[in-house]
Amino acid sequence: MWCFPDEAICPPVKHSIRVSDKAKLITMLWLLLSAGFLATTLVSYFSSRASIRESITVTELPLTSDNVYSEIQKDLVRPILISSMMSRDTFLRDWVMGGEHGVEQITRYLKEVLTHYGAVTSFFVSDATRIYYQAGGVLKKVTPDEARDAWYFRVRDMTEPYEINVDPDLANRDKLTIFINYRVFDYQQRFIGATGVGLTVDAVVRMIDDYQERFGRSIYFVDAKGAILLSGKNRLGGKAAVNIRDIEGLRDQADAILSAGKGAFEYQDHGRRHFLNVRYIAELKWYLFVVKQEQEALEDIQHTLYLNLIVCATITLLVLLIVHLTINRYQRRLEEMATTDNLTGLANRHALELLLEQASREALRQRSPMSAILLDIDHFKEINDKHGHLCGDTVLKGLAATLKANLRSSDIACRWGGEEFLIILKDTDLSAAMNVANTLRAKIEQQQHELRLGKASITISAGVVAFRPEESQEGFIDRADHLLLQAKEEGRNRVHSEI
Ligand code: GH3
Ligand code: MG
Ligand code: MG
Repeated sequence: MWCFPDEAICPPVKHSIRVSDKAKLITMLWLLLSAGFLATTLVSYFSSRASIRESITVTELPLTSDNVYSEIQKDLVRPILISSMMSRDTFLRDWVMGGEHGVEQITRYLKEVLTHYGAVTSFFVSDATRIYYQAGGVLKKVTPDEARDAWYFRVRDMTEPYEINVDPDLANRDKLTIFINYRVFDYQQRFIGATGVGLTVDAVVRMIDDYQERFGRSIYFVDAKGAILLSGKNRLGGKAAVNIRDIEGLRDQADAILSAGKGAFEYQDHGRRHFLNVRYIAELKWYLFVVKQEQEALEDIQHTLYLNLIVCATITLLVLLIVHLTINRYQRRLEEMATTDNLTGLANRHALELLLEQASREALRQRSPMSAILLDIDHFKEINDKHGHLCGDTVLKGLAATLKANLRSSDIACRWGGEEFLIILKDTDLSAAMNVANTLRAKIEQQQHELRLGKASITISAGVVAFRPEESQEGFIDRADHLLLQAKEEGRNRVHSEI
């Protein structure tokens, strides 16, 4: 028997309005949830990013700069002091002015400086003889033609009292060494040579590397011209960068940074933002650059952001799915309630109108016969009066069950009124419909109902009609009603048709 096919009960137009309402609700919920989740996730991401940026520029980089500076001071300031004392040493100056006799005297002196102060090299280069003395004896003679000796001639001609130079040390297996080159004068302020000590930069470079690896910071020293003098293994801007102007984002800012001498700066290199802290180290006449790439610092909160977005998207989808399923369930329930008769579970009159319209269209299209049986319980009032209204209901339910049990799944049974039922038989002509009606009448008559005051049976009267293509729904049912009336008039418990 028929069991509420959705499209028959909800004609296409009504259905599409409901679907678009649901789509609107789901879209609005989706927008609200997405906007809410997105706003809170992004606000927390941006505020974390701002505090990370602030902590990099205000705390991390200046602190690193302080640490490196104090390390450098420890490593460099003492050698500068020693070199300064060497340049003022009366023995050294007297020995030079006395004609540089007795190499062992100067080497003893240089050795004493070396061992006592813990430098890796100590030297004196005489301007008169161009001899390069060091703790182990005479190393060589300096000449302007050799690139390695260029430092001496630069020191000779400079106006500053000393310079700090990073070069490989010939006397120390070419290890990268920081030399403090002090100018030496005689008592009449005439230049007589250069002296000083050197120290390997291994310790400084190790510290810089350590910072780079542990905290993702790059540290390098830059001179007044912007040349990168000393850096860790992974030099920013790659090995090719010998000047800060070789680094993409620093090119335009280089002059401003060097003239400011200190402060916090930002630049982009290869599309990535970098934070830079600059400090001028007066003792070295160098700038200390401490750089941190933003991307590395933000990786953690970016992971959190993606995780949050995934969680929010999942929750949004789940909420929308639950809403969708709940609406569907309630919609089905409402549709059922609107189209089903509560007492008997059969289709109600409203549903029948829709179903009959569909069935008649189908019959016309397929040129198949269609019939209707309108039946009414005989003297039902008496049942109610005798056994009570509730027993009357039981009888109605029992009759509906008999109809359900004896009709095909394609047939449509409906509670047309109080104790009147309308049955639409698809693909059934009048005589077949008469047979069905008579069978039903007989079955109903045989059925015993357990009522308050004992068992009771009922009879029905019915009108049977075949559908005529040109007639309306009302006309069709009206004819059945007319025949039912005739059956009643002729004594009840009978089936009437137009034949
Ligand atoms: P007949 O049809 O043979 O002419 O007699 P009848 O007594 O069946 O006809 P009538 O139309 O006078 O009475 C129908 C009765 O059905 C009256 C009404 O109270 C009862 N009725 C209608 N709906 C329900 C219902 O849902 N439950 C119960 N218990 N009774 C109902
Ligand atoms: Mg009746
Ligand atoms: Mg009636």
